[in-house]
Amino acid sequence: MKPVAIIGAGITGLTVAFYLNRKGVPVTVYEASGRVGGVIQSIRQNGYLAEFGPNTLLETSPKITQLVRDAGLESRRLDPDAKAEARYVVRYKRPIEMPGSPLGFFTTELFSLKAKFAVLREPFISPRRDGVEESIAQFVVRRFNQEFLDHAIDALVAGIYAGDPYKLSVTHAFPKLKALEDNYGSMIKGQIFGARERKKRGEVAKDRAPKFSFDEGLQVLPDTLRERLGEAVRLNTSVTGLAQMAEGWTLGLHESGRDSQAEHSAVIFCGTASRLAELRVESKESLGLSTFSEIRYPPVASVVLGFRREDVEHPSQGFGMLIPKIEGFKSLGTIFSSSLFPNRAPAGHLTLTSYVGGERYPELASLPADKLYEIVCEDLRVLLGIKGKPTFQHCVFYPRAIPQYNVGYGRYRDLMSDIEAKAPGLFLAGHYRDGISLSDSIVSGYNVVERVASFVKTQEGK
Ligand SMILES: Cc1cc2nc3c(=O)[nH]c(=O)nc-3n(C[C@H](O)[C@H](O)[C@H](O)COP(=O)(O)OP(=O)(O)OC[C@H]3O[C@@H](n4cnc5c(N)ncnc54)[C@H](O)[C@@H]3O)c2cc1C
Repeated sequence: MKPVAIIGAGITGLTVAFYLNRKGVPVTVYEASGRVGGVIQSIRQNGYLAEFGPNTLLETSPKITQLVRDAGLESRRLDPDAKAEARYVVRYKRPIEMPGSPLGFFTTELFSLKAKFAVLREPFISPRRDGVEESIAQFVVRRFNQEFLDHAIDALVAGIYAGDPYKLSVTHAFPKLKALEDNYGSMIKGQIFGARERKKRGEVAKDRAPKFSFDEGLQVLPDTLRERLGEAVRLNTSVTGLAQMAEGWTLGLHESGRDSQAEHSAVIFCGTASRLAELRVESKESLGLSTFSEIRYPPVASVVLGFRREDVEHPSQGFGMLIPKIEGFKSLGTIFSSSLFPNRAPAGHLTLTSYVGGERYPELASLPADKLYEIVCEDLRVLLGIKGKPTFQHCVFYPRAIPQYNVGYGRYRDLMSDIEAKAPGLFLAGHYRDGISLSDSIVSGYNVVERVASFVKTQEGK
């Protein structure tokens, strides 16, 4: 049997390869860069552990737990410090703890009386049933009010998507919120009455899902999967084209300055939408891959800074702080990394991970490192009372960080299903299709495995 080709050794591609391999299906993973993990990047230096891409993995599905177990990583799993629950949102130019209970909500200074009243009124607002796709901003203003958008949702959207709330689709980027309105007529009613049903389905909402990492950061997961896959992973090998044959696919490869070809029974594309659009394709029917170049991936810079504990006035205990645009800072938010996972800084020090750029200020993400440190230090000086110079600094620039599931994204998803129907043996999986989080990517990989395995079995039986 010709091996199945997997394009991309990010978490999606490695999950697919790992589980196909366990089913006895031979695989080859092609990775354009010299490392595995895609946007996951953890480094240990001078006693600090810096995490540049995702910081935590959410246990939203039993498939996540299963992957950790199957990879033999249960003993290396690291749960966050129990004291790191607090989340802050910036208002009045200082971080204010987000309320964790209904009573807390009605007494917090984070929202005005008017915004609190908007929450009480929400269950009485009729659901929109005309099928018009709204942005998350339109949805929130219609069901709550502008203040809620400007001081809470805008910050949340920056924290998750580095996105623009006026462009992101509530249907595609926040499908569970939309489902609450569709199924219960209101988000508040849905939260209350839907809890039992969600429990029955074994679903865990993202805001309640346990989050975790590993002793040496998230990079442990892709590194371990790569070890298990051995020679099947080919680094520094770009897939440049795909040609459909009578049976299977021929891949055009570019490795160490040389072009070559390889034959495969099936292909799973687990890269980014922008790279998908660049592939040269020869197929029986036109697939229209170039359309995927329209999907926006704004740039983001991750800036990790270490400080002496006594040089930071704010306790910085908790998950971190989100910054709404209206507050006028340049960074999007900061994770209190060494409060979340205490092994991330040497004794007497702390680590803070901040993000710059996104749809809010794309031009800032590509600034030189020194300028980025300056921008972040200035924001942290005002918000957390930072005094001294950083004892550690490192940054990573992601020119194309996170795909934006903007209004109209459904047409790209339809095109993906169309392509799979028109080109048997070509499969598409990952963050650009089934949700942008690490856990979404793992589940996307897990789900495509069944479809690929059954395709390969049918081909063998012919
Ligand atoms: C800064 C940042 C912070 C984030 N924070 C979080 C977080 O805290 N929690 C969370 O759940 N999620 C977070 N995410 C999102 C999450 O990390 C990603 O969605 C997920 O890791 C995507 O995995 P993937 O394998 O689908 O894609 P990627 O990680 O993008 O991997 C794709 C791989 O395919 C390779 N490739 C592409 N085209 C080709 C080709 N033609 N030939 C060969 N190789 C190719 C690329 O080189 C790359 O290695 C974050 C993302 C970023 C950028």
